[in-house]
Amino acid sequence: MTSDTTTTAPRKLRYAIIGAGMAGILAGVRLRARGEDDFVIYEKGASVGGTWRENRYPGLTCDVPAHAYTYSFAPNPDWSAFYAGGPEIHDYFQRIVADHGLEDAIRFNSEVVACEYQDDTERWQITTATGETSVVDVVIAASGVLHHPNIPSLPGAETFAGEIFHSARWPDDLALDGRRVGVVGNGSTGVQIVTALSTRCERVVHFQRSPQWIMPVPFFTYSDDERQAFRDDPELIEAIRNGEDYWAGIRRFNTALVDTESPEMAEIEAIVLRNLEESVRDPVLREKLRPNYRAACKRLIYSWSYYDAVQRPTVDVETSGIAEVQPGGVLAGDGTFHPLDVLVFATGFQADRFIRPTRVTGRGGVNLDEIWARRPKAYLAISIPDLPNFFMLNGPTGPVGNFSLIDIAERQWDYIEQLLDRLRDDASGISVDEQAMDAYETRRIAAAKTTIFGSGCTSWYLDAEGVPASWPWSYQAFADAMQTPDLTQYDVRKREERAVANCDGADTRRLDA
Ligand code: NAP
Repeated sequence: MTSDTTTTAPRKLRYAIIGAGMAGILAGVRLRARGEDDFVIYEKGASVGGTWRENRYPGLTCDVPAHAYTYSFAPNPDWSAFYAGGPEIHDYFQRIVADHGLEDAIRFNSEVVACEYQDDTERWQITTATGETSVVDVVIAASGVLHHPNIPSLPGAETFAGEIFHSARWPDDLALDGRRVGVVGNGSTGVQIVTALSTRCERVVHFQRSPQWIMPVPFFTYSDDERQAFRDDPELIEAIRNGEDYWAGIRRFNTALVDTESPEMAEIEAIVLRNLEESVRDPVLREKLRPNYRAACKRLIYSWSYYDAVQRPTVDVETSGIAEVQPGGVLAGDGTFHPLDVLVFATGFQADRFIRPTRVTGRGGVNLDEIWARRPKAYLAISIPDLPNFFMLNGPTGPVGNFSLIDIAERQWDYIEQLLDRLRDDASGISVDEQAMDAYETRRIAAAKTTIFGSGCTSWYLDAEGVPASWPWSYQAFADAMQTPDLTQYDVRKREERAVANCDGADTRRLDA
């Protein structure tokens, strides 16, 4: 007797991971941990580390506690301080790559210029700038958020006779001692640069367009004994990264972001206001530094020493704007001329680019620029309609704030892994359903407008229509959402189910692709 059954057997997937920064390294390590080794990590640069490779400015620090800005699978007892510096963090990522033998999987100097979905094979063709092509089942877009510098067009900038560059392009050999440096922009980057230069340069002029609220935080280094203690007792590290204090702080902060009238928000406002009132002695300078919008509307600046820095005799805060850049310096809006040797644009990034300018073409030839014509969107920051098996780490509208992006990416990976299981077992294509995407965005946008980010200031958190491009709910809601994919929200295409002749168990050959 012959009976027909339908079956699909698990298949081995082939992956392209785009970017060898924090998230791409995570994807590589976690794929290996699943026993999957058929992947290539495409990296446009010559080494790993993403933002930590590109940013090398003086004072670069991560304002998330170092032990929390660490992969869960690779605690680091050797952090030198509660807040680690950029070079040390870069070293950490390089070490993870070496420890996990990932170098062989990384294709350096290989910018991906196109990802094209092939409807017939249900696979992606990847093309690099050198013309190499490869065909894969799954694309993991781990290309980061803040990597396309935003350079202001200032009149006369091209005439400047000294060094002029964006903060993420800091020349390694730049002399600083005894020089006069202008820094445009006072986000986290500009504040860190000015603080560091205030004790080194002859003169620092901080060009401030809008003042910032500054959250005072403690800074301390770890002694050799403390580092030894971390080595001897991993629980001490766990207590910092997962302790009640750390998570209570995250919850408080997050409650404030989503409930602008909460006691938590009032507490943040009181702390930053007290910091300004008590730390800045000169009333004229204090007023220059006083924001006219609510705390945490822009990303809060965490600093233990910016107010000290701007009160040093070497530092000027210029608030009258930039009328013109001239060969020898900058003419301010009020007619003051600031002679300068170096001009730094700490003016942030084009935060709406994500994987672009890579050309991403999905099912039926639809391209990402069309899908994102109004604003970048991704369901739960991970999946995009009509881009099957294309998953983002730290994609648009994920949680932003003063949290660890590593924790966010790890949770996203846990979620993506469950979609990969389906692709391995029985699905050929998974992408968010278009209607589900729209419904999600409608809810997200409504909620985002009520968060503190939408309370009336400019920032890179806002999209072109002034809507916060962020996760608008609690961190716990994000953690919950990352637990298990709700497949009813997805367009899941089954792998071709083929009849398998079963002649009393005689022929059970795998016939699917
Ligand atoms: P940013 O927060 O976007 O700040 C850009 C600054 O440049 C703002 O002060 C802005 O002024 C100013 N600016 C932009 N265009 C200007 C123009 N045409 N003329 C004058 N001023 C102009 O950029 P960022 O400081 O590089 O930081 C970006 C993000 O990187 C941060 O929010 C954070 O997520 C991340 N980061 C993190 C750390 C950390 O320690 N974890 C450190 C650095 C950076 P307005 O405010 O008036 O627009």
